[in-house]
Amino acid sequence: MLPGILRTWANIALDFALPPRCAACGTIVGDVHSFCADCWTQIEFLGDSGCAGCGMPLEATDSATCAACLARPPRIARTRAAVAYGELSRGLAIRLKYGRKVAIARTMARYMAPLVQAGEAAVLMPVPLHRTRLWGRGFNQSALVARELSRRLQLPDDPLSLRRIRRTAPLKGMSPAQRRKAVSGAFKVADKAAVEGKIVILIDDVLTTGSTAAACARALRKAGAGRVELISWARVVRPSRLMR
Ligand SMILES: [Zn+2]
Ligand SMILES: [Zn+2]
Repeated sequence: MLPGILRTWANIALDFALPPRCAACGTIVGDVHSFCADCWTQIEFLGDSGCAGCGMPLEATDSATCAACLARPPRIARTRAAVAYGELSRGLAIRLKYGRKVAIARTMARYMAPLVQAGEAAVLMPVPLHRTRLWGRGFNQSALVARELSRRLQLPDDPLSLRRIRRTAPLKGMSPAQRRKAVSGAFKVADKAAVEGKIVILIDDVLTTGSTAAACARALRKAGAGRVELISWARVVRPSRLMR
C-alpha cells in the first residue's frame, strides 16, 4: 500500500494523463464511460420499462404486455433498448460506426448491461454485417458492443455463427412492409450447434422498426435457438416519426 500522499499524487498524475470525458460532448467528467450533466438531461433512458415483450412504452394501461404482442407473440421474446433514439444517442452510434471507438462501445455496454437477463445457455450475438460491408469498414460496430458486454457480464459472445448472406439496400425511407421484404432471407446460421437450445441475445446499435432483428430471429429459431432476445443501444420509440 502506498502512503496516502503518494496515492493522491499517483491519482492526480493518472487523472492528468487521462481525464475521463463525456461520451457525447467531450467535456471532462468525474466518471469514465459516462455523460456530463448537460448531456445527461438530453438522454431519455428507457430502462426495463414498457411491454414485457416488445418493450414499447405502455401508456394508459396496467397490462404488462401490449395489445400487439398479446395478439401475436413476437418472434423476439424480449426487446430492450438503453435509450430513446435522439440527436445525442444517434451521434454516439454514428461515431461508433465510422470511428471504431472502443470507448464508445464501452459507454453503450455500460447502459445496456443492466438490461441483459442472462441465464444458463445464453450467448450474445451481434446483428451481422454482410462481408462486403465488413471489408469496407473493417469492423462491425455491434460486434464491438457485444464484445464489451461479454467482458462486463462474463457471457460468451459469438460474432461468427449468425451470417448475413445477402447484402441489403439501406432501409432508410422504406415502409415497415418494404423493410421486412428487403431483409427476408438475408440471414443464415452457419453453425447450428452454436445456437441449438440456446438463449440468443441479439445485440444491435440502433433499433428502428425491428425488421432486421426479426429476420435474424427467424434464422436463429429455424436453426434451433430456444429463445431469441434483443438488446440495442438506441431505439426509435415511435417508428412513424423516423428521423431522416
Ligand atoms: Zn456532455
Ligand atoms: Zn409489446
